[in-house]
Amino acid sequence: MNPFKSAKEQLLRAVEIGGLSKYKAEILLHPDRYVEVAIPVQMDDGTQKIFTGFRCQHNNSRGPYKGGIRYHQDVNLDEVKALSFWMSFKCALIDIPFGGGKGGVIVDPKKLSDIELERLSRGWVQKIWRLLGPQVDVPAPDVNTNGKIMGWMLDEYEKITGSKAPATFTGKDVGHGGSEGRTEATGYGGGNLVEEILQKQIVDLPRKTVAIQGLGNVGSYFAEYVFKLGCKVVALSDSKGGIINMDGLNVQEVEAHKKATGSVKDFTGARNVSQEELLELDVDVLVPAALENVIVPENAGKIRARLVVEMANGPTAAEADPILEQNGVLVVPDFLANSGGVCVSYYEWYQNIHQEKWAGHFVLEKLKTQITSQFHEVLQLAKEKNTTLRNAAYILAASRIMEKM
Ligand code: NAD
Repeated sequence: MNPFKSAKEQLLRAVEIGGLSKYKAEILLHPDRYVEVAIPVQMDDGTQKIFTGFRCQHNNSRGPYKGGIRYHQDVNLDEVKALSFWMSFKCALIDIPFGGGKGGVIVDPKKLSDIELERLSRGWVQKIWRLLGPQVDVPAPDVNTNGKIMGWMLDEYEKITGSKAPATFTGKDVGHGGSEGRTEATGYGGGNLVEEILQKQIVDLPRKTVAIQGLGNVGSYFAEYVFKLGCKVVALSDSKGGIINMDGLNVQEVEAHKKATGSVKDFTGARNVSQEELLELDVDVLVPAALENVIVPENAGKIRARLVVEMANGPTAAEADPILEQNGVLVVPDFLANSGGVCVSYYEWYQNIHQEKWAGHFVLEKLKTQITSQFHEVLQLAKEKNTTLRNAAYILAASRIMEKM
């Protein structure tokens, strides 16, 4: 399905259940602006290549446009539009003063040398800088972009504008104006929600067993957090396969094994499992933290977890949602569960603007308070409207954006 079409359907469902303004929803179905640019890059062999770049600015009613820049060979305008739409909703839901934006470049960055990548990143800024700025549009890293690339982009932006403006980009390295706690933020934010669900007994999780698909940045910090809470992480996977031990895995030891061998597979004291088997395990909590569309109508009825925490973006297909609901599975939707990252990006922006430097524990405590309180707002609204957390989250985010509109 065209991702922007699915974003539209989600909004229209929220408008209907929440009794929101159809007129304002119609405006939200159209991004404020999008641009496509041609970026000429001098290659190391002396030739010149033209790359296609995008920036989509969806809505800025609540504050500057905010969202990452993705480098991928398959990125396209529809994808960037849909992602910018979701950023507006994610920022509104976690209640930070940002709107939604997203950018991209059609490129396989693995095929570029470091210097070619730098030229491309600076080239993106040369074409788009007029649309950027701390109070206008604040990009960040996304798939295949990182703190180093943000550093090049910021440097180019400051050269062109002749001003110091570190708050124009977030996700910078800590030594270059980035925030402490950003690396952990997304995984820990999801962990904060599990902690709250356990403490307030929102779902009965008697064995506290957890299966996590994807032991990357998000999955590993999430695993570390819930392990410290006393949860039993019984299954883990990466792109090469998965492992299970119902008595619990030592996450640190699994990570060391992955570092040494390149995968979690064949970990001593665990049995290998397939990706499909991992999703259908008899555990209390299932955490998709890798890919989109892994819970689909074909397997949704076989999910035995009582709680699904969507740490990846879009892991549940729209048609699978009603099946999970019918079976009484509580789903914490992606744009709430993984909003810790953008929340700390806002803290980075704030620190840059006010020339402050916050300690890591302060950042993570602030995140915990913020994500937990927004979770309770969503829970409350879901009860009032007798609907899912996903629908309630959409209603809450849409109504906050519409109020500012
Ligand atoms: P990452 O690249 O660090 O990790 C991804 C992990 O998924 C890797 O361990 C990889 O081996 C694994 N994986 C890939 N294919 C798999 C498969 N078929 N089965 C099981 N595992 C597989 O990425 P990340 O930053 O951890 O992001 C993970 C998800 O979280 C993505 O959907 C991303 O969009 C979302 N997300 C990330 C952030 C963030 O701050 N990093 C914020 C919001 C959302």
